[in-house]
Amino acid sequence: MGIIKCPVHGVQGFEEVCEHIDRALGEGTYLDGRCFLEVVSCVRCVEQHDLERFANLALGDWDTSAETTYAALNATSRLHCVECTAAAELHRARKSGRPDPFIAYESTLTFVQGEVVDRLRVALLDKFTFAPSIVQPPSPAVWVRQGAITCPLELTIYYVTDPLEQDAILGWLAKFFVDIPLNQYRVRFYRSENWKQVPMNPPAICGFERGPEEIVREFCSNPPSPR
Ligand SMILES: [Zn+2]
Ligand SMILES: [Zn+2]
Repeated sequence: MGIIKCPVHGVQGFEEVCEHIDRALGEGTYLDGRCFLEVVSCVRCVEQHDLERFANLALGDWDTSAETTYAALNATSRLHCVECTAAAELHRARKSGRPDPFIAYESTLTFVQGEVVDRLRVALLDKFTFAPSIVQPPSPAVWVRQGAITCPLELTIYYVTDPLEQDAILGWLAKFFVDIPLNQYRVRFYRSENWKQVPMNPPAICGFERGPEEIVREFCSNPPSPR
């Protein structure tokens, strides 16, 4: 999954979808699909191109028939932001009276309220002192990520393990949100960062990535109830 700049959701992941799913999304509806050869394909395309034969085929293992089939799909496929797709899927489920396909965060700060998210980040870093990140030194080990329909606004904080210090941050956040109706957010306190080297094994890219990290506390404000 790559990254796309969506006018509604900002920088998001994207999926490549077949022309029929693209058309449905364009009409504000949703069509079920499964991913073959990196393209989310509808039932019709799965049958027409006999895509089942490529199930579990990794990107690095493509043969000529996989490449030819991908070229045929790619000729009419389109890229779609994953949050736009999720919104269409949710809309379809509700219209047909079915349960939501995922927990929907409809009262969270998103890309559209980017100015408020920025203000929150600046005020938080102004109010509290955080340890520097070993991933992005000398920046503090705190991330504030905008929400979307599938996930709330999220604050990721490392090295603050004292419950009283955590309480102070949570109390400050509650005050910040007192006049903000879009008050679904999640705070995760992690013990420490785990930044480990990835071995140089083609085709993997050599570098670093986050390893397992321990969450010491999680707080959810105004969590939505499943429906
Ligand atoms: Zn299709
Ligand atoms: Zn979008």
